[in-house]
Amino acid sequence: MEVARYGNSEAVVTGIVGCAGLLPTLAAIKAGKDIALANKETLIAGGPVVLPLVKEYGVKLLPADSEHSAIFQCLQGVPQDGLRRIILTASGGAFRDLPVEKLATVKVADALKHPNWSMGQKITIDSATLMNKGLEVIEAHYLFGVDYDHIDIVIHPQSIIHSLIELQDTSVLAQLGWPDMRLPLLYALSYPERIYTDWQSLDLVKAGDLTFREPDHQKYPCMQLAYAAGRAGGSMPAVLNAANEQAVALFLAEKIQFLDIPKVIEAVCDRHHPHNQSSPTLEDIIEADRWARSEVLAAAEKRVQGAIAYS
Ligand code: MG
Repeated sequence: MEVARYGNSEAVVTGIVGCAGLLPTLAAIKAGKDIALANKETLIAGGPVVLPLVKEYGVKLLPADSEHSAIFQCLQGVPQDGLRRIILTASGGAFRDLPVEKLATVKVADALKHPNWSMGQKITIDSATLMNKGLEVIEAHYLFGVDYDHIDIVIHPQSIIHSLIELQDTSVLAQLGWPDMRLPLLYALSYPERIYTDWQSLDLVKAGDLTFREPDHQKYPCMQLAYAAGRAGGSMPAVLNAANEQAVALFLAEKIQFLDIPKVIEAVCDRHHPHNQSSPTLEDIIEADRWARSEVLAAAEKRVQGAIAYS
């Protein structure tokens, strides 16, 4: 928090993994700094608290997530109310070509092999479960004010189109580039300017075929869990996010299996009975986060003892 509000910096890149970024982000906002949001969990868990503060302190919340940067770039010049639909692209993660029955036995090292992007461990596991895309649906909802019926996911294995928007007249705009996180980070810091770089230009011929397919919700239940939590709103996205963070940590520690991740998240979300559901306070969100983590640990403990399943 001290670093986040330090000195005369104009913008803070919130490059922290997980909901741990929430309090530092709030500190930076209150210090009047623009936020380059490289920490989606903050907005997903804390949206109902973060967004009013962004408004109150008159700071900018600029996406550094590649998909949201793409949407944000496409939106430049689009009039208010011009946006009809968001189409998030997803690489499909480490297991996109693996048959569903093989998912039960995948190992941590397999899940950490992302086909296109070089990222940290937690987000790479989130990519393999497609929870990352589910979380990005909630992130898009908060960033762009689009309802969940108008945010779609499409699998695009090449990760060249970083996301698209459909306008009211059905025109579709996309942002393209090599999969390289430097670009969304640069734009978050240079916005609205465009800074010259000597990075490799996109070569469409070299990029080759761009393909698209429907996401498989049977194989990847995390997407539906995220839509449901987003629609429930309030502190439910915080619970989803915290349960996911804890479940991924247990998977990385080889305490639970890959397919346990969505099961345990669903069980915890089912048990969450929020109060102040329509407008949770920061305390409600922190408490929901703490509760969800302890529920996951308790469920995993039972699982280790072989007693019962998660429900
Ligand atoms: Mg992303």
